[in-house]
Amino acid sequence: MPGIKKVLVVGGGIGGQSVAIALAQAGIKTEIIEIKEAFNVYGVGIIQQANALRALDQIGIADETMRRGFPYGQVKMFTAGGHSIGLAGAPSMGKYPSHNGISRRILHEVMFEEAQKLGIPYRMGITVVSIKNNEDSVTVNFTDGSQGTYDLLIASDGVKSKIRDLVFGKIHPRYVGLSVWRYPFKRHEDLDTGYIYYGRKSKIGFVPMSSESMYMFLVSAEGPNPRLDKADYVPMLKDYLAEFPVKIAQDGSPSI
Ligand SMILES: Cc1cc2nc3c(=O)[nH]c(=O)nc-3n(C[C@H](O)[C@H](O)[C@H](O)COP(=O)(O)OP(=O)(O)OC[C@H]3O[C@@H](n4cnc5c(N)ncnc54)[C@H](O)[C@@H]3O)c2cc1C
Repeated sequence: MPGIKKVLVVGGGIGGQSVAIALAQAGIKTEIIEIKEAFNVYGVGIIQQANALRALDQIGIADETMRRGFPYGQVKMFTAGGHSIGLAGAPSMGKYPSHNGISRRILHEVMFEEAQKLGIPYRMGITVVSIKNNEDSVTVNFTDGSQGTYDLLIASDGVKSKIRDLVFGKIHPRYVGLSVWRYPFKRHEDLDTGYIYYGRKSKIGFVPMSSESMYMFLVSAEGPNPRLDKADYVPMLKDYLAEFPVKIAQDGSPSI
């Protein structure tokens, strides 16, 4: 990219920070704008597969994510009642394990710290109002009244991207009917890899996030995007879990 010397990244999530770090490491002047006033990344986890770890290694942060996360092997799959079905996920690739579980907040911190080391500026609480394409640059007006001209704008502003709307016209992502429930808690000492149990109404999974913590996810079909009453969360979750007569669904212990 010889002509690219100055880049604007819109959105400071996983994608935005990764690309900004890679560009800054290549000597390209890069800044991030983020619509939130402050990052409030919630503390549930994310699973990084070996290919994601290899990509993070290319920007120098795989080792730190694994040190602050929980590297583990292939995922053990079971029926709802605990009969083994097999293993999921690619085997480890060279130095990269099959998976690394990590808190989203910690992953964000690892990326943010790397970006700080590289001197990448973050402008918080602003977004883009308009974009004008020039011959070989793009001029951007921001919500704080400022303007900037860049060789490249990269949209990393998530699934409901405003930049995509500005460039391609309004696109509405379609909800497909699946919901994911998350529940973080203290890691059971025997939980040293991922576990998934397939029921008829939902599937549940258990993911180590660090030596101290783990989380459970439950994927359910909730129909046409209902807004649930908070008071219903616990009874609904208990109802889903009733389908899984295995110890792990009670206390996170993988023993049958
Ligand atoms: C329930 C669930 C579980 C998942 N589990 C996994 C997993 O285990 N492993 C995995 O690899 N992936 C997982 N994913 C997918 C993963 O979370 C996404 O692929 C990833 O977060 C995408 O990163 P992103 O930076 O593109 O977008 P986002 O993470 O959505 O970040 C977008 C950023 O842009 C900001 N922003 C939004 N609009 C604007 C704007 N107009 N101007 C400026 N900033 C803006 C937002 O505030 C945010 O900081 C999961 C997703 C979900 C929903």
